[in-house]
This record gives sequence, structure tokens and C-alpha cells, in this order.
Amino acid sequence: MKMYDLIVVGMGPSSIFLAYELIQVGKHKNILLIDQGKSVEKRFCPISKGKKCLNCKPKCNITCGFSGAGAFSDGKLNSYHMTLREDGEDIYLGGNGGSYLKEYLSETEINELLTYTDNIYLKFGADKKLYGNKYLDEIKKIKNKAKKENIDLVSFPIRHLGTEKAHILYAKIEEYLKENNINMLFETEVEDIIVENNKAIGVKTKNLIDGTNEEYMGSNIVLAVGRKGARFLSDLCNKHKIETKLGSVDIGVRYELSDEVMKNINKYMYEGKFIARPYPYGDKVRTFCQNPSGYVSSEVYENGLTLVNGHSYKDKKSTNTNLSILVSHHFTYPFDKPIEYGEDVARNVNRLGGNAIMVQRLGDILRGKRTWESDLENNKIKPTLISAVPGDITFALGYRTMTDILNFIKSMDKIVEGFANPENLLYAPEVKFYSNEVVLNKDLETNIKNLYSIGDGGGLTTGLMMASVSGVKLARILSKKIN
Ligand SMILES: Cc1cc2nc3c(=O)[nH]c(=O)nc-3n(C[C@H](O)[C@H](O)[C@H](O)COP(=O)(O)OP(=O)(O)OC[C@H]3O[C@@H](n4cnc5c(N)ncnc54)[C@H](O)[C@@H]3O)c2cc1C
Repeated sequence: MKMYDLIVVGMGPSSIFLAYELIQVGKHKNILLIDQGKSVEKRFCPISKGKKCLNCKPKCNITCGFSGAGAFSDGKLNSYHMTLREDGEDIYLGGNGGSYLKEYLSETEINELLTYTDNIYLKFGADKKLYGNKYLDEIKKIKNKAKKENIDLVSFPIRHLGTEKAHILYAKIEEYLKENNINMLFETEVEDIIVENNKAIGVKTKNLIDGTNEEYMGSNIVLAVGRKGARFLSDLCNKHKIETKLGSVDIGVRYELSDEVMKNINKYMYEGKFIARPYPYGDKVRTFCQNPSGYVSSEVYENGLTLVNGHSYKDKKSTNTNLSILVSHHFTYPFDKPIEYGEDVARNVNRLGGNAIMVQRLGDILRGKRTWESDLENNKIKPTLISAVPGDITFALGYRTMTDILNFIKSMDKIVEGFANPENLLYAPEVKFYSNEVVLNKDLETNIKNLYSIGDGGGLTTGLMMASVSGVKLARILSKKIN
């Protein structure tokens, strides 16, 4: 049986940047990447053409396949280390919403890796323009206003690929990996890893087209399964006793409001990350993944859940901005199942919406009534996700989550006038699953020898840039092990 130097489960940004970097150092002759989805040129989402979700087979095209969740992402590349930090402003390293990767690396190394990785994106055609590094005085004024409301505003330079351009960029990377003879298996699900004497030696797969099973053996196995694979990873950790720390789940809504209300934030920063701990619970509530002139989208997960997300194109524009408002849920003894909790909440919202994303006006929530189709027809903010079903999300989101979100919106209105406009729309469920955080050593290796974990799946990162960085970092580690 053929023995690979390296087998990577998943082909998201973390995985493909790992392969890219191994090519640079000539250690790529014997690598196998496996993904349950399709190659990037075959990935197509009917919703992007104004149709309903068709539950794509074998897997959702939005989140699976070459470049993972990156292919249809908004493509915001966050580079926290750049110019804004020179004046002693926020020192904030990490991907969207922070990243545990910084616990394994020095600040100098992260900065070097971010610059290096940013240059790879530029090489494959990322827009040279940076947002968020120009209007420093204006940003400072908004920060001061936010402080008065006990809200932190974190600002940093952002590069914006745009959904359609992200697709093209990742297609070029796929071509590059093919030209360099990286082996890629698509529409193939990894069902298990093979462990002998506490050492990972291979993977068990199922071909999703013909149902055949195979085993592939490798000297190094990398789990790069993204949030899509959070449940798979969690089960794997339980089965093989891979050490983890209790993780969290972020539950909230996708909030849609007019570009006009958000015009200063959009212009000065492109994306503002507002973080608060509203009364009375003190839970962390934050804005995340802001999409000026964007579109709300939906994605289907294997457990059958339909979750809301958002993105924006480089050229095609709506007149609405969308962003998520997420509440971090950390549980305490005796409860230790954050993924199951998030799934249950999402499933209940899906049930109420007939398996589609639900949408409700802020004003209706405050008045204690559901939103009807006719309410939306007369609403100034028109939903950009046309398949969303109007209803009452408060039947399914917990009291604590709803209170956190509503109190946050109220405070935000004092910073951004119109943020609490009753015609603004709340879509649910928006849930960010992270498997329990996989415990790694400084070589990003788990307690199972030769088994590594990178990217969002094991909770190491939470965004495109840092997921890509984690791949580059692991390549540098593995290049010393591969002959
Ligand atoms: C609509 C949308 C917009 C986004 N916008 C942004 C943004 O603007 N900026 C930003 O920083 N981030 C954004 N993100 C998040 C970003 O895409 C992720 O942080 C990033 O893709 C994580 O990379 P990854 O390599 O860890 O995993 P992923 O990209 O999630 O890839 C994991 C891959 O593993 C595969 N996989 C999982 N389990 C298995 C298995 N058992 N067998 C085989 N294959 C498996 C999946 O099919 C998937 O292709 C967005 C995400 C979405 C969905």
C-alpha cells in the first residue's frame, strides 16, 4: 500500500496554505489532500442565483470543497499587526474574533507569518487596497464614543477580496497545487483515523459518489476540518482520546440594516468589531463578519441544520449592510456539550422556519409580535436573503441570548444612530460551532503522535487569514520531518 508523507483531512485555507508552503521548500512530492466537497470550479450555490437552497449533494457547496468555507466567503483578510498599531492603539492579534494560535507563537513570529501569508494572497491576485488604515482620527472618535457605552471597538487594516474574486483567487491556488502534483481526492469523506500505539498512521475514507471504502496510510496526518467538521472532530476526539479543553459556542443573529446608517463605519473601517459585556449577564457579545452593501446567505450542515451567514461581492452591491451579533456561551459544571446546545437551538429555529432561515423585524420583537410577509413588503429594509421566512425567532433563541442581543443593539444605537431602527432585520440561527479546543504542543501536534490540527476546526483560528497562517506555520514544522 502506498505510504504518503502527509495526509490532510479537509481542503480549506489552512490545508491549501500548508500544501503551498511545502511546495516552496520542495517537500511536496508525496502529499494527499482529501475533502468531502468538490473542486472549486465545480462549486456553485443556487442561492447566489436567487434560487432556494437545493441541499446540494453530496455536500453543501458553500462550505465544502477546495478552499473550504473560504470559496464563498466575503474574503475579508484581517491583518491586525499593520500600521494601526504603531501609535500604541489596540494590540490585537488574531483572526475574526481572536485566535488561539497566538498562544503558540510569539508576536514577532505572528507578524512575520501574517506579512508572508498576506503576500501569498497578493501573489494570487488579492486587491492591493487596504481598508481601515486611513481615517485614524475619525476611528478614534468612534472608539471614544463606544467607550462611553462600555463597548470596545477594535479596528485593524483589512483587505477585501469579495466573494466572486475569492472564488477566482482560490481557483488559481488549486491550479498551482495541481501543477505541482499535489494529490487531491474530492467528494471523499474521512470517516476515521487509524491509530496504532498512540501514533496516527492513516485515515479511513468513504467515496461519496459510489460508496466505496478505502484506507490511506501516511507518516503525518493533519486535521484541517473547519467549523463544518467540528462535530466530526469532536467525535474523533472522544473515540481516540485526543485531549481537548472545553470549548464554547457562539449563538446569535445576522443583523441587516441600511448602508446609510452604517456609512461611516463602512467608509472608515470596512468592518468594525464592537465588543461588549452587556448587563445583566456580562456575556461577551460582539459584531462579526460585517458586509457593507452585502447579501445575507444560508448554508446547510451535515446534521441537517440550515445556518445564516453573510458576504459581499466586489462588484454586485445591495443597499444593505449585514453583520452578525454573536453571544459567546461558556458552560459550567456539569454541562460540557456546547456543540449539542448550539445544534438544539439552531434546530428549533429551523423547525419554526420550515427548515429555512427565519427573519424578524427588530420593532416586531420589541412589540412582542411575529413578522408577516406583508410586514416585510412595506418595510424599508428589504431582506437580501429572499428565501428567509418571516416569523418569530424569540420562540427559539433563549431569553439570555435575546436579552444580550437586544441590550447590545440598544447601546450600539448611541454610537451608530439608527442601529436600533425598528425596521432593521434579525435573521436566525447564526451559530458558530467550534469543536472543543484541541490541546496541541508547540509543534501543533495533538497527544496522538504525528496527528496535527490546524485552522478553525480544532478552535485554533477563527478566520481566513489566521487559518491560512496556521497552515504556513505547520508546513515549516513538517518540512523538518519530511525527507
Ligand atoms: C459565508 C461565509 C463568509 C465568511 N467570511 C469571512 C471573511 O470575510 N473573513 C474571514 O476571515 N473569514 C470568513 N469566513 C470564515 C472562513 O471562511 C473560515 O474561517 C476559513 O475558511 C477556515 O478555514 P479552515 O481551513 O480552518 O476550514 P474550512 O474552510 O472550513 O475548510 C474545512 C474543509 O474540511 C472539509 N471536511 C470537514 N470534515 C471532513 C471530513 N470528515 N472528510 C473530508 N473533508 C472534511 C470540509 O468539506 C471543508 O472543505 C466566512 C465563512 C463563510 C461560510
